Formats: sequence, C-alpha cells, structure tokens
Amino acid sequence: MPCNVVILGAGLTGLRAAWELAKHGYAVNVLEREREVGGMSRSHVVNGYTFDHGPHGFFSRDAWIMDEFKELVGGEDNYWYLQKWSQIFYRGEYFNHPLRISDLASKMSPWRVLAALFSFLHARLQVRMGRATEGNTEEFLINQFGRVLYEEFFGPYTQKVWNISPAALDADFARDRVPQINLWEVMKKMLISRDRMRLTPSGRIATHDLHRFYYPRKGAHVLSKAMAERVLAHGGSIHTSLQITRVDSAQRQVVAQVDGQTQRWPYDMLLSTIPLDKFLQLLSPAPEPDILTLAGNLRYRAIILVNLCVKRPSIIGPFWIYFTDRSFNRISEYKQFSPDLVPQGRTGICLELTCDEGDELYTASDETIFRRLLTELEALQLLAAEDIEDYFIVREPNGYPIYEVGYKARLGKMFEHIRGRTGLFTAGRQGAFLYCNQDAAIKCGFEIAQQMMAGSPTRASGMRKNRT
Ligand SMILES: Cc1cc2nc3c(=O)[nH]c(=O)nc-3n(C[C@H](O)[C@H](O)[C@H](O)COP(=O)(O)OP(=O)(O)OC[C@H]3O[C@@H](n4cnc5c(N)ncnc54)[C@H](O)[C@@H]3O)c2cc1C
Repeated sequence: MPCNVVILGAGLTGLRAAWELAKHGYAVNVLEREREVGGMSRSHVVNGYTFDHGPHGFFSRDAWIMDEFKELVGGEDNYWYLQKWSQIFYRGEYFNHPLRISDLASKMSPWRVLAALFSFLHARLQVRMGRATEGNTEEFLINQFGRVLYEEFFGPYTQKVWNISPAALDADFARDRVPQINLWEVMKKMLISRDRMRLTPSGRIATHDLHRFYYPRKGAHVLSKAMAERVLAHGGSIHTSLQITRVDSAQRQVVAQVDGQTQRWPYDMLLSTIPLDKFLQLLSPAPEPDILTLAGNLRYRAIILVNLCVKRPSIIGPFWIYFTDRSFNRISEYKQFSPDLVPQGRTGICLELTCDEGDELYTASDETIFRRLLTELEALQLLAAEDIEDYFIVREPNGYPIYEVGYKARLGKMFEHIRGRTGLFTAGRQGAFLYCNQDAAIKCGFEIAQQMMAGSPTRASGMRKNRT
C-alpha cells in the first residue's frame, strides 16, 4: 500500500516536496486554493503581457538548486543571467544602489556626505571593536550603514514598508535580507564605478553593481509550471480552485469544497505550506485557546501589485527603483528582466504598495488606487495617462511575515503543537512563517520531503540519486 501524502499549497515549497515524494513512490495529492500553481512565484498573463506576482529574480548559493533551476526552465536558451541594477529615489534624485561616492558627491550637499561617511565609519568601528549591540532591526541597520543613512533612508523605508518601528522588528529580519557589509568592499564599490557605466534607455548614465541573478525568459511561472509537470509525471495529482474547510487530524483527512461539492482526501502524512495561522485555525480538533491566540497574533504585511501595460518601449533604466516618499515602495519594469514578457514596442510596469489586509488601502477600489498612482507617476514625469493601455491589480494578503521581537519563541510553541499531532508537517514561506526567497522555498520543499520519508511508516521504493 503506498503511503498517502496530502500537501496543502502548490507554491514552490509544496511542489518541490510533492515532486520528491511522488518520485519515491508516495501517493501525493496537492490541494491549491488558486486556479494556477506557483503561489507567489506564479505569473499573470494579460493581453500578451506577462507580469510576475511582484518581480522575481532567481539565485542560489547551492549548486544543485542552480542546476535544477536551469534544467527546469529548459536550459540556457531559456533563461537570462542578468547583472542587478537598482536605484533609490531620494529627495528628488536617483541614486544607484549600492550607494556610490560619485552619486553622493554630485547629488547631496558635501556636509551631508561627510556626515554620512563619518557615521558609517563610526558604526563599522563600533562593530569591529565589539561595542555594538544587535537585538533589533534598528540596531542592525545602524551598525551596517551608520546613523545618518539609517535616519535618512533605511529607517523610514523599513517603517513605511512594514508599518512597524525598526526597533520593534527582530534583528533576524534584517540579517536575512540585508547583505552583510565588508567595509573595504563597500569603499571599493563606492569609488570604482566608471568601468561599469552604461546609458539607460531613458538616457540617464548609470552604474551596475556586481550582483547577478537568473530569470526565465518567459517569466517566473516557468519554474513552478515545470515542477508541477514533474509531479504529474511521477503519478502525483494537483487539485486547484478548492477551499479547504477542515484538517481532521483524528480521522486523518482533509475536507474541502470543490465546485460546491464536499470532497475528502485521507492522508498518512500531511504537509502544510499555507499560512501557519490559517492552518492552525483549520485543525480539528481545534488547538488549545492559547495556541489559537498565538496564531491570531501572527502579523503579515499585505502587498498590492499594480500592473500597467504601457504603450512605450521603455520607462526606467534599472530593474527597479525604491521610493520612501511616494505611496508605492518600488517601481519595476518587466522588459528589463526579459523582452519576451511584453509585446513589441511596449513595456510592463509594476508598482508595489504595502498595507494591512482589510485596511482602507487594501479595500479601496482598483480605480481609486490606479488614479492615485497615476497622479504620482505623472508628477515624477515617468508616465502619462495616454501611455497606459490597460492595468490590473493583485492583492496578496500574506505578502511579508513580520518578525516582531520575540517571534521565535511564539513560533516554537505553534510548531510544537503541530508536531504533537501524528503525521503533520509544516514548511515554506507561509508554513514556517519564513521571510525567504524562491531558492530557500525549493530547499525547504526538498528537505521536508526527506524528513517525511525518513520518518514515515511506509518507506518508498525506487529511490534515485539525481534530482530531476
Ligand atoms: C512581491 C514579492 C517579490 C518577491 N521577489 C522575489 C525575488 O525576486 N526572488 C526570489 O527568489 N523570491 C522572491 N520572492 C519570494 C518568493 O516568491 C517566495 O519565497 C516563494 O515563492 C515561496 O514559496 P512557498 O511555496 O513557500 O509559498 P507560497 O508561494 O506562498 O505558496 C503557498 C501556496 O499555498 C496556497 N494557499 C494559501 N492558502 C491556502 C488555502 N487555505 N488552501 C489551499 N491553498 C492555499 C497559495 O495560493 C500558494 O499557492 C518574492 C515574494 C514577493 C511577495
């Protein structure tokens, strides 16, 4: 008898785990709420334009994950290897990121530049001498960039995107997301930039930073679709557009509504990659009230993605530009990722806004949000109304997990509760409340599948060494 595995969520974590388990002979059913697979790394295709669920570059330090990515997207003719280029819009000027001395010198007052430099050097020396503390994100960012740059940009940007004081965010948050700075590397990058100059489509001179990323020519969704095909090829099933109503851990079955009908999937093992709080709320018998309270107190930042189909060949030079003083946090141009994402002579733009699920912005009509942003884009002289042939808006309620100080201990209690029920596992960005990228989601999926197989009553047959 094969071991029955049910996986909640067909994002990269769920799909990678499903593929691994199906490959080893497990009977796998993946249950997904949306019509499409891919979760946050899916793409939306509208009028010949392809928009990701927010722009998605790919990179991994693990060679096997990079090999897998290249193979899944169809080999080297089907992906780009791109040099990252981003900018920060600050006090009316565009600064390349990482910051360059030439930019600072030409666009900021010399006194501000000196103050930033001294506070940066002071902060790095404090770290070197072991005098710096790093208990929260504010301390982390000051240690990394110095107090002046923290107060000018990194503090306000963090506050705006996450709507929480950086002092109330655990340092893990920034540690996972902000590159650790090597003082001499930074000085070198700030000074040596002329050899990396290039003219942008809008005529601005810009410099590139040294970091690179991969991108599937036809959009981020190529990866998850290829993974879903592997699941099916190994005999797994993927069921989409359903609503899970109960995870009955006593009867070991998942109950869901599909086209108005109740369906049940029995399981020996169940992996959840859906948001941790929602999963705990679906459990039957219900967890103790203190666990449900902890789940209810988990906080996420919602994302609104405003996608514009634009009748112009190009709008911005870099892949994206960050803003602290507009209602959007970032503007990205998909054509810079791959010309295959847009019709000839056109471009696709994405504006990212953050808010809380259910707040005034989240519930505002698409028309209201679009009109407000259009006014801002016109003021920045980036776009005019007649340039836009169509737009659509996507809301993502569980965009970013918020690592409030002390979150780890609270998460630990919730995981302990789940481990206490036989056959239940939880993993991934949503399942483990983890602020991770695609490569980490793939790794989570692969590793949780290994754990499940190691501990499962029915060991699978047909083990293979390679990961295709
Ligand atoms: C705006 C944005 C930009 C990003 N940029 C990058 C980037 O440039 N590079 C990078 O590597 N990563 C990026 N990421 C992160 C990356 O998208 C995620 O780390 C990765 O996709 C997480 O995969 P996952 O499977 O763990 O979670 P998810 O993709 O969230 O998958 C969870 C799945 O569960 C489903 N689900 C939820 N609730 C239910 C339910 N009740 N019943 C059934 N199904 C349910 C969801 O629909 C989804 O399919 C970005 C993320 C965002 C939001």
